[in-house]
Amino acid sequence: MRIHSLRSRIALVFVLLMLAVQAAVFVVISTVIASNAHRNVEDQLSVGERVFQEVLHSNAGKLTQAASVVAADFGFRAAVASHDQTTVTSALQNHGDRINADVVMLVGLDGKLIADSRGPTHAGEPFAFPGLIRKAEHSGDASTIGVINGRPYQLVAVPVKAPLVIAWVTMGFAIDDALARETRGLTSLDVSFLGKPDGKHWTVLATSLEHTAREPLQASIAAAPADPRASPFDLIDDYGTRVVLLASDGEPVVAILQRSLKEAMAPYHRLQTTLFILTLIGVAVSIGGSVFTARSVTRPIGALTRFSQRIGQGDYSEPIEVSHRDEIGELAAAFNQMRDGIAERETRIMDLAYQDRLTGLPNRALFNDRLQQAIVVALRLGHPLSAMMMDLDRFKYVNDTLGHHIGDLLLDEVGKRLRANLLRASDTVARLGGDEFAILLPTDNVDAAKIVAARLLKALETPIVVEGQVVDVGASIGIVSCPENGRDMHTLLRRADVAMYTAKRANTGFAIYDERDDQHSAERLSLMSELRHAVEHDELTLHYQPKVDLATRAVKYVEALVRWEHPTRGFIAPDQFIPFAEQTGYIKSISRWVAEKAIRQCAQWHALGLDLKVSINVSARDLMHAELPETLDALLRKYEVDPGSLWIEITESAIMDDPNHAIATLDQLHRLGIRLSIDDFGTGYSSLSYLKRMPVHELKIDRSFVMGMADDKDDETIVRSTINLGHNMGLKVVAEGVEDAATLEHLKTLRCDLAQGYHVSRPLPPDKLESWLVTWHDQSEAQLREADAPV
Ligand code: C2E
Ligand code: CA
Ligand code: CA
Repeated sequence: MRIHSLRSRIALVFVLLMLAVQAAVFVVISTVIASNAHRNVEDQLSVGERVFQEVLHSNAGKLTQAASVVAADFGFRAAVASHDQTTVTSALQNHGDRINADVVMLVGLDGKLIADSRGPTHAGEPFAFPGLIRKAEHSGDASTIGVINGRPYQLVAVPVKAPLVIAWVTMGFAIDDALARETRGLTSLDVSFLGKPDGKHWTVLATSLEHTAREPLQASIAAAPADPRASPFDLIDDYGTRVVLLASDGEPVVAILQRSLKEAMAPYHRLQTTLFILTLIGVAVSIGGSVFTARSVTRPIGALTRFSQRIGQGDYSEPIEVSHRDEIGELAAAFNQMRDGIAERETRIMDLAYQDRLTGLPNRALFNDRLQQAIVVALRLGHPLSAMMMDLDRFKYVNDTLGHHIGDLLLDEVGKRLRANLLRASDTVARLGGDEFAILLPTDNVDAAKIVAARLLKALETPIVVEGQVVDVGASIGIVSCPENGRDMHTLLRRADVAMYTAKRANTGFAIYDERDDQHSAERLSLMSELRHAVEHDELTLHYQPKVDLATRAVKYVEALVRWEHPTRGFIAPDQFIPFAEQTGYIKSISRWVAEKAIRQCAQWHALGLDLKVSINVSARDLMHAELPETLDALLRKYEVDPGSLWIEITESAIMDDPNHAIATLDQLHRLGIRLSIDDFGTGYSSLSYLKRMPVHELKIDRSFVMGMADDKDDETIVRSTINLGHNMGLKVVAEGVEDAATLEHLKTLRCDLAQGYHVSRPLPPDKLESWLVTWHDQSEAQLREADAPV
C-alpha cells in the first residue's frame, strides 16, 4: 500500500481518529476512576476524622468522669484540705489506675503542682497548662492536648470543692502508638501524631504506621510548612491525608489521618485493566474496519482507473460493471456514458475520414490503407493480390448535360452495382474521387481479376435510370496484380492507372498492365526521346491514302497517315506510337508537324494542278488545346491553301470524352472553313443530339464493320444504317477498310459516297500517290469506255 494512495490516507485518517477517540475515552474514564478513588479516600478521611474526634471526646469523658469521682470523694477532699500528701497521692493513683490514666495530678490554686502520679519530685513545680485551669474555672471542667516531657497527652481538669474550689484534679491519657492503632482499628485510617518537641521541627510523636512507613513520613513532614493545613495533600506522597489540629496548650500537636491511595485504588485497577484491553480491541477493530472501508472505497476507483486507461488505448469493447448503487456507481455509469459517446464519435470521425460521402463507399484514404495492408499480407503469405482502377466513360458528358445532381445519383448507383458484384466480403470497392473507382481483390490473381472485371463491366451495361433519365455509361478498368506489377502501393496504383488508360483508349473494357503502355517504363522513356528526335530530324513521313468516289471513281480526297522510319528499329506503325504520344502530350508536336507537312503537300499538289483535299487525324488531346484552330489557320495562310481543302478527322470517342469542349473547338474550326469528319464511327457512343449540333460534313464508318460486312449480317446492317443516317443528316459517308471488290460493289449498291482501303490503295508516299493517281485515272477511263461500249 503506497503511503500517498487514497486508500492509505483514508485508512490513516480513520485509524488516527479512532486512536484519538479511544485515547480520550481511556483518559476520561481513568480520570473519573482516579477522582472517584480520591473522593472515596476523602470521604473515608472525613468519616475517620469524625470517628477520631469521637474517640477523643469519649476519652475526655472517661477522664472527666474518673477525675470527678476523685474530686467528689470526701476522704480525698479532706486529705487535700489537710495537705495529707500521702493520701492524696494514693487516691489519685487508685482512681487513675481504674481507667488506666497515664498521668494524674493535683494542681493548687496557686497554679503549682501539689501531687503528681509521675513522682513526688514534681511537687511544687508550676502546672504546664494554666489555660486548661482557666477554661475549667469557666465551665466546670475542660480538656486539652498537651505535651509533657516530649510526649503528648489528652488532659482534663476538674475542680475539688470544699465547698469552695480548693484545688484542681488533672487526669490524662498518653497519646501514643496504642491510641493510634486503636483509632486505625475503628477508621481503617493510619493515624500519626506530630509535634515540635524542639520548638522548630515537626516530629512524629506516635503513629499507627509500620516501621517502614515511618521514615518517609518523617522525611516529608520535615519539609512541611509551619502551618500544616496549608497543603495537606502535598504533604505525603501516595496518601490521602487529613490534618487535624488538636486543641492544645503550649506546644502544638497535630494528628494526621492517612489513607493509602494505592490501597484505595486497588479495586479500580481491575476495571482499568479491562478498560485498557477493551481500548486495545477497539483500536484493533477500528484499524481493521478503516482498512476495509478504505479498500472498499478505493477498489472501485482502481477498476475505474483501469477502465479509463483502456478507453485511452482505444478499447471500447466492454462497459464497466455498475454494481454499486452509490456515488461510485453513478461515476461508473457516467464512465460508461462517456465510453459510448467517445466510441460513437470516433466511429463518426472514422466514417468521415474514411468514407466517401456521396456513395458511402470507402474513400481513397481507406482504400490506400487496405491496399497497403493487403500487400503486406500477400507478400508474407505468398499469395497473389489484384487491384483495379476504374473510370467511367462519358461521365463528364452526363454531368454537363443532365446536371450534377443526376451525376451524383449515377455515381451512387454505379457504386451500388460494383459492390453488389463483388462476391467476397474481403473485396473492397472504393470511390477515389470524380468518376474514378478502385477495387481491391486481396486474394485474387490476374485471371480471377479479369473475370471480376468482366462481371463489373457487364453490371454497368444495363442502362441506369436516374429520376426518369436513362443513362448509359460504360467504364474502363485497369488491372494490376502483386507482385508481378509491383510490390508497393504507389507503383501498383500508378500502373493500374496506366492500364486503365490503355483500356479506355483501346475501348476494350478492361486491360491488364503492360509495361509497353507505361510512359514511365524504361522502354517508353527511350521511345519518348527517340520520338522527339524523329520529329526534330524529319524521320517521320506522311503517306496518303486516297478516298475514291463510288459513283464516279474520281479521287478528290486523301487521308494523311503518319509513318515512322526508325533508323535501327525499322518501320514503326502509328498505332504503336500515336497512343503513347497522346499519353505524354507529345501528340501536340506531332499534330503540328503533320498539319504543316500535309498543308504544304496540299499546296504543292495544287500548284501541280492536282485538286486534292487532305484529311489529317486529330486526337482528343488536340481538341482540348485551344491553339489548334489558330495553328491550322496560320499554316493555311502560310502555304496559301484554301481552308476548304483541309479536313479534320476526329474519332467519335475523342468527341464524347468532353462533348461541350469539343463542340466549341469544332465550331471554331468550322468558322475557319475547315471541314470535319467523324472517324471510326460506330465504335463510340455518339449521341445523335450531339451529332446534330456539330458542324460535321462526313462520317467514316469504322473499318471493323466494313471489313466484316461480307460475312457478318450485323456489320452489314450497321454499315447500311450508318449510310442512311449520314445521308439523312446531309453528310457524306466514307467506308474505310475496303479490302476487296465485292465490298466495294456492295457499298456502291448501298449508295455509300466514298471508299477507302487497301483494295483501292494502300497509304502511299506523295510521289507514289501521284503516279497511282495517273494509273487509277487511266483505269477508270478504260472501265468507263468498256461500260460505254455497245455490247
Ligand atoms: P485511322 O485514322 O482509322 O486510319 C486508317 C487506318 O486504316 C490506317 O492505319 C490505314 O493504313 C488503315 N487502312 C486503310 N485501308 C485499310 C484496309 O483496307 N484494311 C486495313 N486493315 N487497314 C486499312 P495506320 O496508318 O496504321 O494508322 C492507324 C491509326 O493511327 C489511324 O487510324 C489513326 O487513328 C492513327 N494515325 C495515323 N496517322 C496519324 C496522324 O498523323 N495523327 C494522328 N493523330 N493519328 C494518326
Ligand atoms: Ca483517320
Ligand atoms: Ca478510321
